[in-house]
Amino acid sequence: MRASILNTDQRQLISIVVPAFNEEAVLPHFHQKISGVLSEQPFDFEIVYINDGSSDNTLSIIKELRQSDKQVTLIDLSRNFGKEIALTAGLQKAAGDAVVVIDADLQDPPELIPELIKEWQNGYDVVYAQRSHRKGESLLKRTTAHFFYRIIQRISKITIPEDTGDFRILSRRAVNALNTFNEQHRFMKGLFAWIGYRQKAVQYQRDPRHSGETKWNYWKLWNFAIDGITSFTIAPLKISTYLGLLTAAGAFGYGIYMVIETLIYGNPVPGYPSLIVIILILGGVQLVAIGILGEYLGRIFNETKGRPLYFVNEYLPSSSASSRQPASHHSIEK
Ligand code: UDP
Ligand code: MG
Repeated sequence: MRASILNTDQRQLISIVVPAFNEEAVLPHFHQKISGVLSEQPFDFEIVYINDGSSDNTLSIIKELRQSDKQVTLIDLSRNFGKEIALTAGLQKAAGDAVVVIDADLQDPPELIPELIKEWQNGYDVVYAQRSHRKGESLLKRTTAHFFYRIIQRISKITIPEDTGDFRILSRRAVNALNTFNEQHRFMKGLFAWIGYRQKAVQYQRDPRHSGETKWNYWKLWNFAIDGITSFTIAPLKISTYLGLLTAAGAFGYGIYMVIETLIYGNPVPGYPSLIVIILILGGVQLVAIGILGEYLGRIFNETKGRPLYFVNEYLPSSSASSRQPASHHSIEK
């Protein structure tokens, strides 16, 4: 253990934040791999595992790892809150001068961490890993992801880098900035971009999951996309306004045409097909617009309740970090 009195002599501490939900199959392997990478670095580390209400042996595996490795911190959440919240819990408890966010399933290569650290030392606040290739993921997932980034780029004012997961390093002031967000719907990729500061990409190849199964299905991805869009832009509301205006203008024009036609030719009462088509179109447009309103209203409902983001069942800080001052006492500089 290094002496905490000798502050000048103290190495910088880097926290590694790892959300884990039912990861018993990969966790030991992950830990071994990341420990190997970190041991060659001239920093102190704490590895913060967040057990996100796993139903398998993830918790006991983390506890075992903590027995043999003094760098391990455990945050055991009271139930499954989802990755975004698990990540938030990790960021709030992390004590490091910089924080690395990484998935437990080895899809984010730990070998890249030294490179992220290097760029952080060069003065960047957010250094994110950008995948140049996706192996082992279906064409459908690749195309939908691609379109999602394109769309969100178009309609929101902030630029969320494409082909980027949560794998990145954050400076202390970037983490402090993120910790001030208390919204329930946390679209982390968006928040990372929203805070600004100096950001940089590092390219890498994304591997298929080492083992275990992805917790994402298309329904979840769809909801994730809606969350991303609705928490960063009100463009859909504006679009529905213009869609309404357009339909109203069309209806007005058609109304005038009908009046003139009736005046000239009389009215032999035809027009059932046009009537039913118009009713169906109008009904459809209205329902969609109400649905969009509802998405925002539901989010307002969730936010106004102001519930806490998560509860912690057990928090066991690592001994490598416990000698440090609490994260909030760190200076706002890197
Ligand atoms: N995860 C979590 N809570 C959840 C779902 C996932 O903490 O409810 C963690 C999971 O253990 C992994 C990371 O988030 O470390 C990414 O999950 P996954 O690999 O399922 O997502 P994908 O790589 O497909 O985006
Ligand atoms: Mg994964």
